[in-house]
Amino acid sequence: SKTPITLLGLGDMGTALAHSWLAAGHPLTVWNRTREKAEPLVRGGARAADTAAEAVASAAGPVVLCLLDDDSVGETLDGADLNGKDVVNLTTGTPAQAWRRARWVNERGARFLDGGIMAVPPMIGRPETGGYVFYSGDRELFDRHREALEVPAGAEFVGEDPGHAALHDIALLSAMTGMLAGITHAFALVSREKDLDLARFAGLLAEWLGAMAGSSQEMAAQLASGDYTEGVTSNLAMMAAGNDSLLATARDQGVDPRLLVPFMELMRHRVAQGHGDEGLAGLVSLLPAAH
Ligand code: NDP
Repeated sequence: SKTPITLLGLGDMGTALAHSWLAAGHPLTVWNRTREKAEPLVRGGARAADTAAEAVASAAGPVVLCLLDDDSVGETLDGADLNGKDVVNLTTGTPAQAWRRARWVNERGARFLDGGIMAVPPMIGRPETGGYVFYSGDRELFDRHREALEVPAGAEFVGEDPGHAALHDIALLSAMTGMLAGITHAFALVSREKDLDLARFAGLLAEWLGAMAGSSQEMAAQLASGDYTEGVTSNLAMMAAGNDSLLATARDQGVDPRLLVPFMELMRHRVAQGHGDEGLAGLVSLLPAAH
């Protein structure tokens, strides 16, 4: 028989998770602060608990949380008896919040697994879309419930340090932020041109970004060996010189280059230090923040 799931939180994401477990035949108990959101799930066979504490008390399998933020997790679990429970937190947060929450949950006699969801709700329960969840923390808990955890999306266990799922999640979102800044600048350059097919441009742009993302492997190898010139395909001096054309074109097109300038300054600084023969990995060494 299938692992029973207790799910606290029925926002857009929690609701999608719930439907996937119901569809896969898992007994499901749900709770949400605003109770009406449970009704469609109850019609689909879920049981709605009256309080979060009651949902936790009756849990015979993992207690999954998918709430707005870490504060709402604290509020929701406050007053619940966690002793002996398996807590799986799919609420997005920082690594520091995951460390504190792990200790808080462990102090209450429960095991803790943190998760970071790399998917949007329409991807949940549809493995072909490639969505997955980063997990970190209690490895035994993960192994015991792995089959159930893989129902909504794939599972990537990234370490026993409870903060590592959040760190992976935030690192990917941070990289995405830089990519979106680049896309925004690119559209600013082309969007006012007449006779330029924006849909065709978008296709070329997406393909190019996909091809360039491969450079992250080159960077990983350089960081691992400490030799930032290892396997360099495009050296920093060449890229820094090319930046002048990027800035000149932005100026000519009437586009503010502010989204690119800080990164270009970092490149110029590294070249000025005499490291023009390196790849991008040397820039990582310029980033530690002063305390
Ligand atoms: P929603 O805003 O749709 O839902 C928020 C949920 O949190 C609701 O169930 C809400 O209850 C509950 N909540 C908020 N504050 C409290 C509180 N103080 N006490 C108890 N419950 C509270 O968010 P999502 O479902 O989209 O997101 C949930 C988590 O999933 C977030 O951490 C988000 O970062 C993560 N996630 C979401 C993705 C997405 O695309 N949606 C993608 C990846 C991760 P109520 O119904 O009563 O308001």
